[in-house]
Amino acid sequence: MDRRIFLAGALSALGACGAASDCQTSVDSVKNQTARPKIRWKLITSWPKNFPGLGLAPEHFARWVSLMTSGEFEIKVYGAGEIVPALEVFDTVSQGTVQMGHSAAYYWKGKLPAAPFFTSVPFGLNAQEMNGWFHYGNARELWQELYAPYNLIPFVGGNTGVQMAGWFNKEIRSLEDIQGLKMRIPGLAGEVWKRLGGTPVTLPGGELFMALQTGVIDATEWVGPYNDLAFGFYKVAKHYYYPGWHEPGPSLEFIVNQKAYESLPKDFQNIIEMAARAANQDMLDEYTARNDAALVELIETHKVDLQALPNDVLQALRKISEEVVLETAQTSPLARKIFDSFKQYQQGVQAYHAVSEQAYLNARG
Ligand code: CA
Repeated sequence: MDRRIFLAGALSALGACGAASDCQTSVDSVKNQTARPKIRWKLITSWPKNFPGLGLAPEHFARWVSLMTSGEFEIKVYGAGEIVPALEVFDTVSQGTVQMGHSAAYYWKGKLPAAPFFTSVPFGLNAQEMNGWFHYGNARELWQELYAPYNLIPFVGGNTGVQMAGWFNKEIRSLEDIQGLKMRIPGLAGEVWKRLGGTPVTLPGGELFMALQTGVIDATEWVGPYNDLAFGFYKVAKHYYYPGWHEPGPSLEFIVNQKAYESLPKDFQNIIEMAARAANQDMLDEYTARNDAALVELIETHKVDLQALPNDVLQALRKISEEVVLETAQTSPLARKIFDSFKQYQQGVQAYHAVSEQAYLNARG
C-alpha cells in the first residue's frame, strides 16, 4: 500500500471539512483509510525465557512496541532453545528465519573478531561511557557497517553495569592459581585468560550451573549478584570475586533482519529504535536497583566468600588485555577503524571522568 497516496487523500479530505461535525466524519474516514494489516514478529534470545535483567529487556521492548502501535505490531519473545540454541541467534536472524534477536555481540567473535568492541573490552568503558560512545560517538555507525554484510541492523539493547569477576571453586591468591583453570569467559577476555595460562570456554548461561557442578569448568563469570543469584551458582562454587575487569559495562544488542526492517512502515521503524533505546536504559536501572540486595543475600544467607582479585593478578590481566585489544585492531581495516574510534573516545571520556565521576566516588568514600 502506498501510504503517501492515502495521506494525500486524507489531507484533502480534512481540508474539505467545514462544520466541526464534518471534520469528525473526515477524521474517522482517515482512520479507516490508514488501517494497516497487523504485523507479527518473532524475537529469539540467548537467555532463558523471562530471565531477570537480560531476559526481561526483550519482554519490555516487545510490550512497549505493542503499546506504542496500539497492538498493530506484536513481537513474540522466545527464550534460548525454544526455536534455536542460545548462540545461534546471529545466524538465524541473519538468514531471516526470524525477524529479530536479543543477544551480545561478543558471542560472534569467531565470525567477526571486532564484534566484542560493541559488547565490552577488558578494562574498557563502563555502562555510562558505552552509551555515550554509541549514541553520541560513532559506534552505532561502525557497528552497522560491521553487521551490514550479514543483513543485520544492530541496536543497543541493555547494559548490566560493571560485572563481577566470577565464581571460582578455589581461591585465587596469585597468577599460579590461574594455571590450567577452566573458566567460562567469552569475548576478548577469554583470549586474555588463555594467555595467562587458563583455559577459556564459551557456554550459554543456561548451561553454566551444570558445567560447574559436574566439573566441566572450574570457574565462570556471568553477570552480577542479581543474575548470579537467580542461577544459583553459590550452590556449586564458593568464592565470588570482583571487580569485573573483563566486562566493565557490557552492552547487549537487539538485531533486526534488514529485509524485515525495510518492510516496516517508517513509524514502526522509529518505534523499534525508541523502544530499544528505552529497554537499553531500563536494564541498567534494574541492575542498579537490585544488585545490592542480591549480594547481601548471597553473603548473609548463602555464606558466599566475597573477595577482590589480588592486585598483581589485575595488573597482569590489564597488561595482556592491552595486547589482545591491539591485536584485534589488526584483524581488518574496519576493526582498525573501530579500535581507533574506541581508543580516542576512551582517552577523552576517561580524562574527564577522572575529575568528575571518579573524583566524586572517591570524595563520597
Ligand atoms: Ca558476563
